[in-house]
Amino acid sequence: MTSYEQERLSALKQLNLLDTPPSESFDRITRMASQLFDLPIAAVSLTDSDRQWFKSRVGVAHTEIPRFKACCGEVADTSGMIVINDLLASPHYSDSTLAHSGIRFYAGAPLVTRDGYTLGAMCVLGTEPRAITDSERSALRDLASMVMGQIEMQHAYGRVDPLTGLGNRSQFLEDLDDRGRDTPGRPVFAFFTDLVDMSQMISIQRVMGPAFLDKLVRSAASHLQRSLPDGVRLYSVSPCQFVHVIEATDENEAVRLAAAWRAVLASLAPDDSASMMMRPAIGVAPFRLGERLAEDALRIAHSACQDARHDETGVGLYSSEIDALHQRRFLLLADFRTALTQAGQLRLDYQPRVDMKTGSCVGAEALIRWEHPLLGNISPVEFIPLVEQTRLARPLTSWVIATAVSQAAHWQAMGLTLCISINVTALNLEETDFADTLIAALAECNLPASAIELELTESALISNSPAASSQLAALQAAGISIAIDDFGTGYSSLSYLQKISAQVVKIDRSFITSLGQRRRSQTLVKSMVNMAHDLGYSVVAEGIEETEVYDLLKTLGCDEAQGYLLSKPLRVDDFERWLAEH
Ligand code: C2E
Ligand code: MG
Ligand code: MG
Repeated sequence: MTSYEQERLSALKQLNLLDTPPSESFDRITRMASQLFDLPIAAVSLTDSDRQWFKSRVGVAHTEIPRFKACCGEVADTSGMIVINDLLASPHYSDSTLAHSGIRFYAGAPLVTRDGYTLGAMCVLGTEPRAITDSERSALRDLASMVMGQIEMQHAYGRVDPLTGLGNRSQFLEDLDDRGRDTPGRPVFAFFTDLVDMSQMISIQRVMGPAFLDKLVRSAASHLQRSLPDGVRLYSVSPCQFVHVIEATDENEAVRLAAAWRAVLASLAPDDSASMMMRPAIGVAPFRLGERLAEDALRIAHSACQDARHDETGVGLYSSEIDALHQRRFLLLADFRTALTQAGQLRLDYQPRVDMKTGSCVGAEALIRWEHPLLGNISPVEFIPLVEQTRLARPLTSWVIATAVSQAAHWQAMGLTLCISINVTALNLEETDFADTLIAALAECNLPASAIELELTESALISNSPAASSQLAALQAAGISIAIDDFGTGYSSLSYLQKISAQVVKIDRSFITSLGQRRRSQTLVKSMVNMAHDLGYSVVAEGIEETEVYDLLKTLGCDEAQGYLLSKPLRVDDFERWLAEH
């Protein structure tokens, strides 16, 4: 296959016309051709690698014929008009499929794209030999041009952003794919420009109406396009967002360019409050043509732009590390949903809590463990904060509560009196049925309220939302104790301690672990313990790793101890063994 033929076929494929249903806009032209020539057959015939396919036809039943010895194929090969007055008299076509089917006359004008590729022919056919006049020739050429006009218009439709007249995302992706084929491996940068912060966009629209933004976008598009080097095309990929690609290798230079374009955009804003909300950000992403899918190039440039939002300069350079982190977070969230429903990935381990006066184990904290089928152990420190931000917080806690409560019931049946503390997130307190469900779960297992305790962080407890307050009140009315987890890390002011209702303070391990060496920490912890006691709280120290620290806390009057010194969190059977030994 010649390279012209290869390019011709790729031009044809790109138009996405082959094997599409008939359309009136083409049929209209074909009917006109048939009438004009007073011939029974007319067609818009596209030349694929091995067939002639009819986008539109009059007087033919089939939708395609083999390309071999088809007159339209010759039009595609020669890019010229072909007229055969009598097929039977033609040495080449006398034994063709067309001639065998009774066709004697053929005239076809080439369908040529703007780039000079002949896609096929606008043709008329007859069952009698015939000649063609000059004016008929030019009419056939005109009809071919009309067909091409229609093809190009259809192609442009859905590729141009009506607001700015710029190519849209589909056009960008297609052009980038083309460049990847033409000059694979060439280093380039994609620049993703975001005119307005999404949240601000809504406020602007709300206050100023949509026309204001339209104007802003149009003006930004034309200024930005004019600032770009000659030949660089700007695309509008979504409302208020543009993208363009330039060839360059130097990152610093690319960032410098982005900063300059950003300055151009920032200077456009007239001096009013709506324009102050316009904060352009530009993301810069280096890649090699053809080595990344166009979609992915757009994605990484967009991701750099998101980072730019958090940078004072308003310009962000793509970082594969940050990208990998986001990808991993996304993947973990998706997989966590599965983990919640598939047995075997999640389990609770239990870390003993010891009464410091008697030295005996009075309870355990239930801590979730996730064994990911591919990635292995994922720490709750990594996935809990992600899950907590999503609707998965609810099923997560439901799973933890169901598992912990049934474990507590099992231990109670073994004659063990333990209080199991369960970690709960702020979002759980917003659930209107949270307390009721928990109380019902305890009742179903015949467990007293003292069998469990809920651990919440300071920020969850301080939220002040009426829904959260009513859940907390219901829990406490049922006798379920609430512990303030990670105490000391959240709020600088301790005044909230008198406002919230909880029974237990768990001093964060950041104060505890190095207590032995630090006098200041000792003073701090001492006053935490005293103040908590004065306010009627019981105090737990978490993160005890050394005997010295344990002893110190004991003298300070701390009630309970938890930490690696006593035991790490243990699997259920290890925990039972540990209990038996202590
Ligand atoms: P947390 O509730 O403050 O739990 C205590 C964490 O400190 C646990 O980490 C525990 O293994 C660790 N730890 C205990 N003693 C020591 C010690 O002596 N030294 C050191 N270095 N660490 C100690 P883990 O299990 O990785 O859990 C981390 C956090 O994840 C928890 O902090 C909690 O906020 C969250 N989390 C764990 N399980 C759940 C759960 O079931 N639900 C919810 N919502 N959050 C959970
Ligand atoms: Mg905890
Ligand atoms: Mg804690």
